[in-house]
Amino acid sequence: MKDFNLEKLLRPNIRNLKPYSSARHEFTGEAHIFLDANENSFGSFQGVGVGGHHRYPDPFQKFLKEKLAEVKNVLPNQIFIGNGSDEAIDLIIRMFCEPKVDNIIINTPTYGMYKVVADIQDIAVKAVDLEEDFSLNPETVLAQVDEFTKVIFICSPNNPTGNSFGQDNIIQVLESFNGIVVMDEAYIDFSSQASFTQMLSNFPNLIVMQTFSKAWGLAQFRVGMAYASEEIIAIFNKVKAPYNLNGVIEKLTTLALTKESEKNKVVKKILEQREFLEQELKQFPFVKKIYPSDTNFLLLELDDREAIYNFLKKEGIIVRGNLNHPFIKGCLRITIGTETQNQTLLKTLKQYTTN
Ligand SMILES: *Cc1c(COP(=O)(O)O)cnc(C)c1O
Repeated sequence: MKDFNLEKLLRPNIRNLKPYSSARHEFTGEAHIFLDANENSFGSFQGVGVGGHHRYPDPFQKFLKEKLAEVKNVLPNQIFIGNGSDEAIDLIIRMFCEPKVDNIIINTPTYGMYKVVADIQDIAVKAVDLEEDFSLNPETVLAQVDEFTKVIFICSPNNPTGNSFGQDNIIQVLESFNGIVVMDEAYIDFSSQASFTQMLSNFPNLIVMQTFSKAWGLAQFRVGMAYASEEIIAIFNKVKAPYNLNGVIEKLTTLALTKESEKNKVVKKILEQREFLEQELKQFPFVKKIYPSDTNFLLLELDDREAIYNFLKKEGIIVRGNLNHPFIKGCLRITIGTETQNQTLLKTLKQYTTN
């Protein structure tokens, strides 16, 4: 981090990019007649939803960012909002990684999208295995850094292993690496650990990603955030599609943010169910191990995962099976359901046992 230089780290074409400027980018004052963007001035005749459909949305989502900044205790200009955090992953790699030249580091087993996005853009991926207890060893990660390593993705709490990595270990990576460190905090609401959003001012090379898809219960909206320095966010704004966030969704998400206490109540229920499910699942003879979880899912090591997966599927219950990394090839990942769903799951597994 000591030699972190954002300008130098950027791909030259991005550094020199003159971004597309839409009509709504250029006009910032007050006006009451908008004849600048070839919208339908007669309005939208569909008569559905929250209204204002005939206008292009705000390219920078001012209202949503103001509300989000308040809830997350960051500044509005430290926020990028995208079509899911998957958009943020895609933009980060495009901003910093030169195809066929640069590389990224991921810590496996982990979320599959980092590699898919890198593969699409022809960026090499260095997959560094976690320790056998799924902890992150900063020395092992840093040993893989070379002059072409631009981004290290750290997913904590990690999907699919479910654990959080120690804060000190992550800080060691942030301090020793001169490229970008992306902290994926998709599961932070379920975790006992503090969010890294409160460390943005300490680390100019830090990007924190969060999402509305998990704890907020809004996966269908496709809204994900990246939090970073004002300088990094300015680059996101340069490379993103002008109207990357749907305006209807922007309004509904702003509304959802006023219901944080409801979200917290549901999170509490999910954590109770996680505890309950863990206690119950432990008692099945075919469950060899349940890994500690800081998320809304459990990772189970089973005697015969294929047979159990197929049995559940036959009974109409879908869990995540194809976890291919050698550390977890005997495992299933099960999302915490409602009380009723979990009871049905347990009942079905009992049938499996007696079969
Ligand atoms: C679910 C998940 C996300 C969320 O992605 P969205 O595109 O925001 O839905 C991001 N990272 C990880 C590790 C996840 O498991």
